[in-house]
Amino acid sequence: MNSHLEVIPLDRRTAARLRRVTLVVPVYDEEASIDLFLEKASEAVSCLTQPVTVDILFVNDGSRDKTERLIVAAAATRRDISVLNLSRNFGKEAALTAGLHHATGDAVIPLDVDLQDPPEVIDEMIRRWLSGAKIVNASRNSRSGDGWLKVTAATAFYRVFNAMADRPMPQDVGDFRLLDREVVLAIRQLGERSRCNKALFAWVGFETETVHYDRPARAAGVTRWSYWKLTKLALDAIFSSTTVPLRIWTYIGGLMAVVSLLYSLFLFIRTLVFGIDIPGYASTAILILVFGGMNMLALGLIGEYVGRIYTEVRQRPLYVVRSQHISDLAGR
Ligand code: UDP
Ligand code: MG
Repeated sequence: MNSHLEVIPLDRRTAARLRRVTLVVPVYDEEASIDLFLEKASEAVSCLTQPVTVDILFVNDGSRDKTERLIVAAAATRRDISVLNLSRNFGKEAALTAGLHHATGDAVIPLDVDLQDPPEVIDEMIRRWLSGAKIVNASRNSRSGDGWLKVTAATAFYRVFNAMADRPMPQDVGDFRLLDREVVLAIRQLGERSRCNKALFAWVGFETETVHYDRPARAAGVTRWSYWKLTKLALDAIFSSTTVPLRIWTYIGGLMAVVSLLYSLFLFIRTLVFGIDIPGYASTAILILVFGGMNMLALGLIGEYVGRIYTEVRQRPLYVVRSQHISDLAGR
């Protein structure tokens, strides 16, 4: 018998050297997409031209349909699927964070289960990573799957965000990107609760490269992102990344003070020269309304920050894990 093979079989020796990429997939009521996703992802993995192993970590974000059963069934037949079950629905940002906390690969790629982040793209991302990049952003050339309102709102949001935040976010890059383990460890240190992961990915820095792809429409199921939730995410991104909105009010306040002083002087002198002018309802009402409105706006804005400070102070965990299954590949 060949003693070499007995000591360490060749496939295990190769596997020991191979680097592993973990696909982190948050899922919430996605029974219609799981099987299709697994099929497409496996196909993409089997076509990889890069020498890596790939495992999948599903983060089940409190699904109430058959999602969990489907994943468990798939995990029973394969050695590359892990599952993290959260105790309820915590939202995509928390689910993704849970995934980043539990992923064990040398690199992590968050992607959506609806195939809007096409698994074929990961080959090129991995190639760039193996040649040295720490982050590989996947940038969408087109958003054929999204309506004009979503695209217009998104464009406006990125304009505002990038004008204020110290670290700009690229407009056409979602959560779909490759993160080296070093980057993941850096992100794990960021414990904030009102969270927009995209903003954090931009914040940590590191050598970044970009690959391009066409974003298709959802393969199955429906989106859970209402405009209301997207607005909340946009506000979280802005208020957790910059204090410029607070400073704007200092400037507006200063400008108003100067204008008010000049106007008071004008009124004072006019009264001295022309005597008391009784009619003046309109100007008084306008002044009260304008200043009242601005005060409320400024208070609301301060409230946004205070609310977030409160959330941070309570120090609740971002998510609660109910159970988990770790695949052979991930547990190695
Ligand atoms: N998702 C989640 N928790 C939620 C909402 C969504 O884990 O509360 C997952 C969802 O299953 C999908 C991904 O996040 O895999 C992206 O969601 P979706 O496709 O609805 O967002 P969109 O692509 O429309 O922005
Ligand atoms: Mg989607």
